[in-house]
Amino acid sequence: MPHIIAEPCIKTKDTSCVDACPVDCIHPTKDEADFETSDQLFIDPDTCIDCGLCVDECPVQAIFQDEDLPEEWSKFVQINIDYYNK
Ligand code: SF4
Ligand code: SF4
Repeated sequence: MPHIIAEPCIKTKDTSCVDACPVDCIHPTKDEADFETSDQLFIDPDTCIDCGLCVDECPVQAIFQDEDLPEEWSKFVQINIDYYNK
C-alpha cells in the first residue's frame, strides 16, 4: 500500500518531498498548472514504491505509510487517490 499525504500539508505545501521521490509520484509540482490552486500535494498510489524517502523530508510530518495514518486523517487515502483519477 502506498504512502499518503495528510492534512499537515495543507497550506504548507513547501514541496520538500517532491525531489526526494525516486519515482516522481508526488504532484502537483511547482511547475504544474494546478500547483497554485491545489490545497496540498498528493501521492500517486499506483506509482509509489513505498520507499519512505519522502517521509523525513516533510517539515510538518504530513506523510505516512497508510497503515500508520492516524484515524482522524483516514479520508486522505481517498483524497490522494482522487487527485489522480481526475
Ligand atoms: S514513499 Fe517513496 S515512492 Fe512513495 S511517494 Fe514517498 S518517496 Fe515517492
Ligand atoms: S514536504 Fe510535506 S508539507 Fe511539504 S509538500 Fe511534501 S507533504 Fe506537503
